[in-house]
Amino acid sequence: MTSRGDANPAANPSDDGHPEFKFSSHTSFEDLRAKVHTFAEERDWDQYHTPRNLLLAMVGEVGELSEIFQWKGEVKSGIPDWSEKDKVHLGQELSDVLIYLIRLAQKCHIDLPAAALDKIALNALKYPADRVKGSNKKYSEYEGEEEKR
Ligand SMILES: [Mg+2]
Repeated sequence: MTSRGDANPAANPSDDGHPEFKFSSHTSFEDLRAKVHTFAEERDWDQYHTPRNLLLAMVGEVGELSEIFQWKGEVKSGIPDWSEKDKVHLGQELSDVLIYLIRLAQKCHIDLPAAALDKIALNALKYPADRVKGSNKKYSEYEGEEEKR
């Protein structure tokens, strides 16, 4: 979880009018994993869901997601200028990516939410807030800075 977007706030407005946006809390990662697993079993698709196939399918979905943004230029946070139809389409493609990611994690026996929490903790060590706040430098650019001072 790193975000090194545009350093110029004017070129990357983050005030989308919904600063408190949150996901709904009624569905867990485990709920999604179980639903996707059942979906595949009911169709006898488990046989095709090898890690490699799932990875390639997910990359294909990332391509579909990218197409939505292609040629649009920079997009405002909260996508206030998009039609409801385009927002629904975006949600569908984001979901396709997530569904394959969850299925891939299951097939590799990776506890994805636990791994994500661990990775956030690692990133916090790599990017200490007091050292990197407001900067988009990569962690390697900070290494050794303490000794230079
Ligand atoms: Mg798709």
